[in-house]
Amino acid sequence: MDKAYDVIVVGARCAGSPTAMLLARRGYRVLLLDRATFPSDTLSTHVVQPLGVAALARWGLLERLVATGCPPIHSYAFDFGPVQITGSPGTADAPLAYCPRRIVLDKLLLDAAAESGTDVREGFHVEDLVIEDARVVGITGRSGDGQPLSARAQVVVGADGRNSLVAKAAGAETYNTRPPLLVAHYAYWSGLPMNGRFETYIRPQRGFACAETHDGLTMLVAGWPVAELEDNKRDIEGNYLKTIGLVPAFAERLRGAQRESRIFGASLPNFFRKPYGNGWALVGDAAYHKDAITAQGIADAFHEAERCAAALDEVFAGAASFDAVMATYQRGRDERVGPMYDLTCQLATLAPPPPEMQRLIGAIHGNKKAMDAFVRMNAGTISPPEFFASASITSLMAAA
Ligand SMILES: Cc1cc2nc3c(=O)[nH]c(=O)nc-3n(C[C@H](O)[C@H](O)[C@H](O)COP(=O)(O)OP(=O)(O)OC[C@H]3O[C@@H](n4cnc5c(N)ncnc54)[C@H](O)[C@@H]3O)c2cc1C
Repeated sequence: MDKAYDVIVVGARCAGSPTAMLLARRGYRVLLLDRATFPSDTLSTHVVQPLGVAALARWGLLERLVATGCPPIHSYAFDFGPVQITGSPGTADAPLAYCPRRIVLDKLLLDAAAESGTDVREGFHVEDLVIEDARVVGITGRSGDGQPLSARAQVVVGADGRNSLVAKAAGAETYNTRPPLLVAHYAYWSGLPMNGRFETYIRPQRGFACAETHDGLTMLVAGWPVAELEDNKRDIEGNYLKTIGLVPAFAERLRGAQRESRIFGASLPNFFRKPYGNGWALVGDAAYHKDAITAQGIADAFHEAERCAAALDEVFAGAASFDAVMATYQRGRDERVGPMYDLTCQLATLAPPPPEMQRLIGAIHGNKKAMDAFVRMNAGTISPPEFFASASITSLMAAA
């Protein structure tokens, strides 16, 4: 290979493929590498929030997703036991969410990157960064047949997930870390129709959620606190079903359904990384990682892929220095995601909502506008500060 590129992107899923695609569409020479070969599944549930769907539409890829037969999701329901808050998660322009299998979504994104002119290499394991005079100038690795190869670029982008090799090799600083809080387990079920609803059930120290995906299957995920990991890991299935049994009406619905997969599980750390340095940048989970309870990872990866591609374009155009542009890239991300990060970490404790939140939930119940706003905050369509500052919520909070 030993070719020179403008950008090498390591990792070709939700963050890497769009970053490569958007740069190649701007005319840059881009190399996209992933050790996986696609279609390839990954450990993840996969609700794509409306703002993520809006990104697919902007890129001209939404029609392709719709054509895969993935059912749209038009409403979210949060069941707290005594009250259920139901609303629309999106905006007038992007009203829907989807829950596409990653085996479908990631391949669609990779194909779009290839069509944009990106040089795509699957089955390629990046082993190290090439660093000269304290600057990252390329990568070394091996292709699927064991052939050692290297390539050079002006910038190497790590879109290689939470255990990012690029971040480690470049020495990216980590900050605002919080330990894993929740253990999540999910499986796919047939015979559990959702009729366009994403349902979440919140109970003390437990929660579960479900959304319909491809092929008539419904993804059903259940979680418990990480403190119970050791006690519960000997009987995952029993604990998964016991969690769902906390809502007898739902357990009754599940009796008519059939589990079609094994149960997959994960417990996720929470952290930010400084997303740039001399000759390198990070995007997606490699740059910012959090618990999956608020299902923000894919939409965040899409959003930051757009920002990363735009930032690098600005650098290559000579509009400003790499450090200045990338400092703005970092600051913009931290400001945008900070409140949702805090909310995500709070929800991931599975502690009951604080008393004032319980009063607010009671007060908004039945008020369509307020319930929509609550749902949109949980979907990431509006930020927590926007939600709490909105006039209808301020007056409801005062009353509550
Ligand atoms: C249990 C669970 C549930 C989740 N549920 C949701 C949800 O419902 N909605 C949502 O939006 N998000 C969810 N997420 C988060 C979501 O999966 C991630 O945010 C998203 O996958 C991030 O995409 P990414 O491209 O940054 O990284 P990844 O998807 O991790 O992709 C990284 C890629 O880099 C490649 N790679 C890594 N190292 C190398 C190397 N050295 N050489 C070559 N290739 C390499 C890997 O093969 C991989 O393909 C969930 C995550 C988990 C674990």
